[in-house]
Amino acid sequence: MTDVMTHYPHVIHGEKRESEETIDVMHKFDQTVFARVGRGTESDVDAAVVSARQAFKETSWSAEDRARILRRAAELFLERKDEIARVITAEVGKVYRDAALEVQRGIDTLLVSADEAGQLTGHTIPINAKSGQENRLAFTVREPVGVIGAITPFNFPFNLTAHKLGPAIASGNAVVLKPAEKTPVTAMLMAEVLEEAGLPDGMLNVVNGYGHEVGSAMLAHDGIDMFTFTGSPDVGRRIKADSGIRKVTLELGSNAPNIVYKDAKGLQQVAEACVGKGVMHNGQACISVQRVYVHEEIYDTFAAHAKAAAENLKAGDPMDPKTSVGPMIDEASAARAESWIQEAVAAGAEIIAGGTREGALLQPTVVGRVENDMKLSCEEVFAPVIVLQTFSSIEEAVEKANDSRYGLQAGLFISDMDLAFRSARALAYGGVILNDVSTFRADMMPYGGIKDSGIGKEGPKYAMEEMTNEKVIVMNIQ
Ligand code: NAD
Repeated sequence: MTDVMTHYPHVIHGEKRESEETIDVMHKFDQTVFARVGRGTESDVDAAVVSARQAFKETSWSAEDRARILRRAAELFLERKDEIARVITAEVGKVYRDAALEVQRGIDTLLVSADEAGQLTGHTIPINAKSGQENRLAFTVREPVGVIGAITPFNFPFNLTAHKLGPAIASGNAVVLKPAEKTPVTAMLMAEVLEEAGLPDGMLNVVNGYGHEVGSAMLAHDGIDMFTFTGSPDVGRRIKADSGIRKVTLELGSNAPNIVYKDAKGLQQVAEACVGKGVMHNGQACISVQRVYVHEEIYDTFAAHAKAAAENLKAGDPMDPKTSVGPMIDEASAARAESWIQEAVAAGAEIIAGGTREGALLQPTVVGRVENDMKLSCEEVFAPVIVLQTFSSIEEAVEKANDSRYGLQAGLFISDMDLAFRSARALAYGGVILNDVSTFRADMMPYGGIKDSGIGKEGPKYAMEEMTNEKVIVMNIQ
């Protein structure tokens, strides 16, 4: 258990705002209530937006000021790293090791945002190159959109919130944040730290609550200029439909493919990486390894390595250092994954490792001989499960990998560099990782999918472009 305060009101203009009703936050392993947050209403959202608009209008700060606040916050987060990692372990259920890694990643995201604050720039347009326009000069500047509505998912409450707050602050925007109702406590600690680091009142307002209440009220509020959302495609679709003529960034789901060609180096290490990164964060990461396409000539060897790797990992208490996989976000999610496993087995797939469940704990699972039309393959499994499929040519592997409604990131293990680059170009994904798993993400790189995986990019530099409007200024030199 953690020793943090257990009741968290909303934060509006630097003040705590109580709610009539609250939402219980469960400790995902103990299944006890470990904190409560306010259940926000339309009027809380309105107060948050009014506060953000006022702060945006009245705050005068340089990029240097904003970078200093982000760097100070990063220092304070580092001091409280253990406490925050424990909160993440409690509210998400991921093992402490993964939680501590997430906090470090989030701190880095804030530091990269601080570095980018002073780099935001437009460009010169050679408008005078055209005859008759010799006396004109044109350039663009980037200006903050104003008030950003940020809606976050349950699975990375620190780093994905940092991916919204870091770039928003670095580019001078005010934010109304709605954290996921299942894991809201981490965001409350973030708001506390950012305030201590000197973020002006009103530049970050946090309203907790349910998506259909607080989220819907945010979408209906015309005081919000842009939405940045990370979560499921179903909710993403609704946000796109309800946000009207406003900017939207959507970071949605995926069933990440990983192709292992017959000439891949270090087959055992590749199998261990696929299993390890398929079950990390309890398999509840958008780029978790899910589909593994293995060349038919090496399938049996790969499957044996994957079996050994999975059987070496155990599900259990996420605070126990011997545990690799904690409970999923709730029992219903674990039962859903288990039913997809059983459905695949009934249709001809075979369980290579795991497949058993106790409450919300699903053992690290490898399922072999899976086909693209099984839910375990074509839907986002979002559980500690990887599925193995076979192919006979690289073209077939690429075709199978592309046969998906999603397009976030793909991994490809291969030695032949001509085939590697040809395949990387042919894979219909926002990112292709060569000789590593689909799960690789450096927080400074452009990150975002195509198709049902979303629109727009994250990574501080790219998120700041999304969070600013490019204005052209044309001078008629007289
Ligand atoms: P979710 O879509 O259920 O919820 C995400 C957020 O949306 C929550 O804060 C929720 O309260 C809110 N919400 C729900 N209904 C809403 C509505 N009608 N209007 C406005 N807001 C609403 O997602 P989740 O279960 O928390 O997260 C898992 C999903 O997130 C997976 O699909 C995963 O792949 C995706 N994800 C994507 C990325 C990425 O970067 N691409 C990263 C992490 C997670």
